[in-house]
Amino acid sequence: MEECLFCKIINREIKSDIVFESDNILMFKDISPEAPVHILAVPKKHIASILEIDKLDCELIKELLEAISSTAQKLELDKEGFRIVTNTGSGAGQSVNHLHFHILGKRKFNWPPG
Ligand code: 5GP
Ligand code: ZN
Repeated sequence: MEECLFCKIINREIKSDIVFESDNILMFKDISPEAPVHILAVPKKHIASILEIDKLDCELIKELLEAISSTAQKLELDKEGFRIVTNTGSGAGQSVNHLHFHILGKRKFNWPPG
């Protein structure tokens, strides 16, 4: 996926501030944070959105969610609560078509979200 921004970050063609990496997963700080902690968690395999989740195997999905959970706990986001967001489609604000989970923490969150 030559044109994909997050594939370029994964391939180190674009620099990012990496917080976790495994064979299958990368987590890096969002360049334009919406909270004191704002991390993006992505599978290294390119899929456009959660609508293509059937292209990822169960082990990878589990590993991704475990990495999100353990990173949130490592950063002590669990103390006051945190939010995981996956914008899907332009109407929901998805601007990068590579599946990613926003991990937001260290501030108060409203419900319902805007
Ligand atoms: P979306 O809008 O698709 O839900 O989320 C994409 C996120 O990627 C946005 O929060 C945006 O700030 C972040 N982003 C865009 N370009 C870059 C970049 O070059 N580096 C990093 N680290 N984050 C980026
Ligand atoms: Zn990609």
